[in-house]
Amino acid sequence: MSSLLTFVCPHCEHKFVMEESEIACGIVRHGAINDNPINPHASKEECEKYLKMPNVRGCCKPVKIVKKEDGYIAEVCDYI
Ligand SMILES: [Zn+2]
Repeated sequence: MSSLLTFVCPHCEHKFVMEESEIACGIVRHGAINDNPINPHASKEECEKYLKMPNVRGCCKPVKIVKKEDGYIAEVCDYI
């Protein structure tokens, strides 16, 4: 069982949704291509390439999901 979590992107302030099971180590990219989340460890070059694709959603910037007592929050992070 996996639940959907909603975050506000710290870069572009748009909401995005992730499956809890997709979070893995907590590093994600705010972006999806045809509803498939992009590689959470995609490089800056890859992310900039994705941004130019027609089917991409999100800003493709790196976000760190941090678990807090009352839920998860999204923070800015590096391309790691
Ligand atoms: Zn964003």
